[in-house]
Amino acid sequence: MTEYDRERERKFKDLLARIVKSPLYKEKLSNYNLNGIGLNQIRTLPLTTKKDLRKAGAFGHLAVEMKEVAQYHESTGTTGEHSSSWFTLQDLGTGGRQLKECGVRLTPEDLVLIRFPYAMALPAFLMQQAAWQSGAGIVPASGRTVVTPYPRVLQLMERLHVTVAAGLPREFELLAETARLIGSTPSKYFPALRAICVAGELMGDKRREHIQKLWGVPVYNMYGSTETANIAAMCEYGIMHIVEQDFFVEVLQEDGSGPVEQGKRGGAAITTFSHRGSPLLRYFNEDIISVEPALCACGRTGGKLVHYGRSKDRIRFGDNVLDGFDIQEAVYSLSPVPDAWKALEQENGLHFLLDSHDSGKWSEDAVRSHLSGKLHVPVTIEIVNDSRLLDRVELVKYVPSTKPVYIQKLT
Ligand SMILES: [Zn+2]
Repeated sequence: MTEYDRERERKFKDLLARIVKSPLYKEKLSNYNLNGIGLNQIRTLPLTTKKDLRKAGAFGHLAVEMKEVAQYHESTGTTGEHSSSWFTLQDLGTGGRQLKECGVRLTPEDLVLIRFPYAMALPAFLMQQAAWQSGAGIVPASGRTVVTPYPRVLQLMERLHVTVAAGLPREFELLAETARLIGSTPSKYFPALRAICVAGELMGDKRREHIQKLWGVPVYNMYGSTETANIAAMCEYGIMHIVEQDFFVEVLQEDGSGPVEQGKRGGAAITTFSHRGSPLLRYFNEDIISVEPALCACGRTGGKLVHYGRSKDRIRFGDNVLDGFDIQEAVYSLSPVPDAWKALEQENGLHFLLDSHDSGKWSEDAVRSHLSGKLHVPVTIEIVNDSRLLDRVELVKYVPSTKPVYIQKLT
């Protein structure tokens, strides 16, 4: 056993000792003898499902006393269910370190604009930690708020010579479209910008290439969730490396029954080694991923992780299985890439709504055959020329929130 393996075994033991302090795991593991269980026997322990977490409630997986809690986070899925997590101050520091694994390599000279939402969601706070740990400064330009509409964010980036910007991939597509609408080219307009960091949405290689082209800088992706913090970060060579000092990642059959072949797609099961507030054991998070060993030129040793989307977004046509990743890659290899799009599942194929400011360059026949050729299903398309997918008038509105005036003086 190498020193590295011994360290992971020690962390796993420590996790098993801590995790039973939470009501959920106290009950879940009550019939298991945890003494002497090593990582190679982790499969004898039960999975934790999203349903388990929901049933246990917000406090169900809390494994520390309230006096140790520094922050609570919660994300809401499309169907309204919550995912929650608790962070101690130490956990926030650990989360920041996980993002520092990213190939962007922040320095004290950097000024990082954070466009992740600052309400409830986790990434803004971890990015902030990563910046501070690197000595960099931040500009909190939260998304999803009336305080920082798109034109203002562009203005901040230019005026403050922001060097790194971080947010959801969609935000950088919308910011680029806003820039175009107000007459500037993002790849030329922000000379200080050197990189973009994204997280929180599915982002395949084609989408990454698109955002890199829009902005003229490298884009680094990160993979994580509210419940686990950041599991993998992208290096200079575009590989997402698992942060193995903090996570044990399994790739299982869709029903969770057993492992898939190395490198094949399957359901992720995440065990958190380091998280103290709300640690998780074999958390079956309903994401489709693949993992394989990576001998990467960057020198990082963490396994290579690819994220293919959520299992509930998986569409089957007979034997043809399409993940969010497959559909996204097909769409983002169109020329021009749409500014906005939507794929609708039909009885025996897919219907695409596509919107581009440059849609004159599309031929309907060519777009249809490109998509059906990539996806191996019948495709119908509709080129959208109104605001159904993207309201460009809203995008350029410079509408800051109005501050209430409590005392009005005579002028
Ligand atoms: Zn690498």
